[in-house]
Amino acid sequence: MIKDFEHFAPKTLEEALALLAKYGDDCKVICGGQSLLILMRQGLVGPKYMVDIKGLTELSYIKDGKDGLKIGATTTHRTVEKSAVIKRKYPVLAEMEKRLASIQTRNWGTIGGNICHGDPAGDPAPVLIALNATLTVAGAKGTRSIPVEKFSLDYFEVDLKDGELLTEITIPAPPPRTGTAYTKFNVIESDLATASVAASVTLGSGDGVCQDVRIALGAVAPTAIRAKKAEKVLKGKKITDALLEQAGAVAATETEPISDIYASEEYRRELVKVLVPRMTKEALARAKKA
Ligand SMILES: Cc1cc2nc3c(=O)[nH]c(=O)nc-3n(C[C@H](O)[C@H](O)[C@H](O)COP(=O)(O)OP(=O)(O)OC[C@H]3O[C@@H](n4cnc5c(N)ncnc54)[C@H](O)[C@@H]3O)c2cc1C
Repeated sequence: MIKDFEHFAPKTLEEALALLAKYGDDCKVICGGQSLLILMRQGLVGPKYMVDIKGLTELSYIKDGKDGLKIGATTTHRTVEKSAVIKRKYPVLAEMEKRLASIQTRNWGTIGGNICHGDPAGDPAPVLIALNATLTVAGAKGTRSIPVEKFSLDYFEVDLKDGELLTEITIPAPPPRTGTAYTKFNVIESDLATASVAASVTLGSGDGVCQDVRIALGAVAPTAIRAKKAEKVLKGKKITDALLEQAGAVAATETEPISDIYASEEYRRELVKVLVPRMTKEALARAKKA
């Protein structure tokens, strides 16, 4: 049963921030409601005031420029999935969105809402970490910028202070010879990940050496995480199958998975062992063609 609340539908970011400043911690932001309404129906969240930002069209955009890609926080998953520029220049983002939930949920849910929900099994965070994305957050005192990998603090807890809104996701233009890949293992098609892996590989010019690598894992720790020890196994070397296998085994040691109805802790570690080499190999193949 959802508790009564007062609903505001600001038309500008300025208006939304003023409402959040006025009502403080009695107030909750809602965008597509695809995650929040479930918590409200379960009685886990019951704000007195709701600031509905779905109508903030000024935060719904995809802009590609020399510095990279900018996605407004209220952009829906479906818009990201269908964007021609994303398909061409950041295909891993479109591929990830295509596997997130159903079309109905993607039509209404937003990429910003997903990140702010802080579900460790969410699809966008590992991909955005692999792409080295940053977030812009706005509040009454101005804006600040946070790398995506630092935004999630714990299960369903993110680095947003009272009165703050996520406004934009920025993805830097990928360096030359960079490839990125993502997959999730899930039991039911379009469900959340049991474990997920995103990997990005940048090759040196002509020598085929791994100049840079970013490996991000989802659903195997309280937040999406970077497997930095696994990255060290590969960085500065020519990637071989043996090194990939080693990186997978090291990545599994960097996780803190839970056991639940979908998988045991051990099974999730095994998934990481298998999916890290697979996705890094795919990222490598894409880097060779980039
Ligand atoms: C059936 C179903 C299947 C799903 N499957 C998947 C899946 O496979 N993979 C996956 O990743 N997700 C999945 N989800 C989750 C869901 O799609 C996303 O989490 C959703 O898109 C969140 O966006 P929203 O706009 O609906 O956010 P809301 O539900 O409106 O808000 C979510 C949270 O973020 C906060 N918030 C929203 N926008 C902002 C903002 N701009 N600034 C600050 N705080 C904000 C809200 O206060 C709330 O705490 C599924 C959901 C459903 C219902």
